[in-house]
Amino acid sequence: MTAKTHQNEWYADGLPFQCMECGGCCTGAPGFVWFTAEEGRAMAEALDMTEAAFHRMFAHMFGKRWSLKERKTQHGLDCVLLDRETVPGKAVCRVYAARPAQCRTWPFWPENLRSPETWRQAAKQCPGINQGNVVPIEQIRIQRDATPE
Ligand code: SF4
Repeated sequence: MTAKTHQNEWYADGLPFQCMECGGCCTGAPGFVWFTAEEGRAMAEALDMTEAAFHRMFAHMFGKRWSLKERKTQHGLDCVLLDRETVPGKAVCRVYAARPAQCRTWPFWPENLRSPETWRQAAKQCPGINQGNVVPIEQIRIQRDATPE
């Protein structure tokens, strides 16, 4: 992602965001949660598993890339690592500290930041958007530019 791609930073003053731990971004229609080999090792370690066991239980390969599995729940297709039981009323990630870049960079993905309208659309899925403290442009850029393609 080049700086040129992002000349129109309508969010130059930052954007408010605070995660509500609702799990909305970890469920819904079928999708992919891509992760690198290094991220896979970190998630396996966080779960105290071998990398092979982690892949077997929680991941599948598409082409040459790994993605986390999904499981059907009343909320839609949940990420297999989403835990709705441990904390009542919350949906938390089982590997939060080791979550892959695709999750870490939400909601500051390039497609959400394209315009105020795409940001509003993303807010329909994520109640944390436009809540809490303003995330400064410098941090938004770091997350935006770290979003995997
Ligand atoms: S949808 Fe938004 S508020 Fe809900 S868990 Fe995801 S980031 Fe947090």
